[in-house]
Amino acid sequence: MSLHRLLIAGVIGPELARWKAAGQAPVFWWRDDDARRPSPALDRLLALSIRLDAPITIAAVPDGDIAALAKACAAVPGAELAIHGFRHENRAPAGRPSGEVNDQDRLADVMSELGAAMEVFRRAGVTPRLFVPPWNSAHPTLKQALGRQGLALSCYGQMRCAEAPGRLDAHLDVMRWKPRPRFRGAVRFLLRARRLLAERRLMGAWDQPLGLLTHHLDHDESAWRFLEAFLPVARPVARMSLDEPTLQASSARMTLRAG
Ligand SMILES: [Zn+2]
Repeated sequence: MSLHRLLIAGVIGPELARWKAAGQAPVFWWRDDDARRPSPALDRLLALSIRLDAPITIAAVPDGDIAALAKACAAVPGAELAIHGFRHENRAPAGRPSGEVNDQDRLADVMSELGAAMEVFRRAGVTPRLFVPPWNSAHPTLKQALGRQGLALSCYGQMRCAEAPGRLDAHLDVMRWKPRPRFRGAVRFLLRARRLLAERRLMGAWDQPLGLLTHHLDHDESAWRFLEAFLPVARPVARMSLDEPTLQASSARMTLRAG
């Protein structure tokens, strides 16, 4: 047994046993950020998704042609492409947290940026349904624009709530970012996972999804190896299967048409 498997069993095993005793299993989903085009790291990510039967949502930056990326993802069962910002450009005023949309931006301009991003997806044959803002920064003006376009939002750390039914966040980042990107470390990652799992169990929030977050272009070898050990335990489901019925009026319409 690998060290990662031992740590997974030791740190979250008892918590998972409590879920099982209650007749429940946690719901995981998987988001990977910062794709633009195929690369050896993307190949490795997609191969992992196929081999471990772990559907993935890939947040892609629409600042160029994403057709090759879309083609690579189309061959992967359950893979979905989400819009990752406009140009992944930090436009926050000095001293403020990084973000692409700021207080000076007018809704009309954000709508036009969003329209252009959606057009990049459509040209690649993809209908976008989810928006992942760079640096997980959801400015109110951006939220307004997403609402008008019927796009759901994915940031980091929040639980699902009635006020934002379509929002589906990631919660467990395999990476640490400062001072440089590297694997977060198995124990650090697993302690956070254990805390979030226990929180959900104690609230009886059994269906609250837990989002795994990866960045394939930044993974070191430890991050890849940990993923190989963690994914078979998490057994993530496709993001689309977690769509809230209230938000997905369009899928209801599709069902009606299909009926
Ligand atoms: Zn990013």
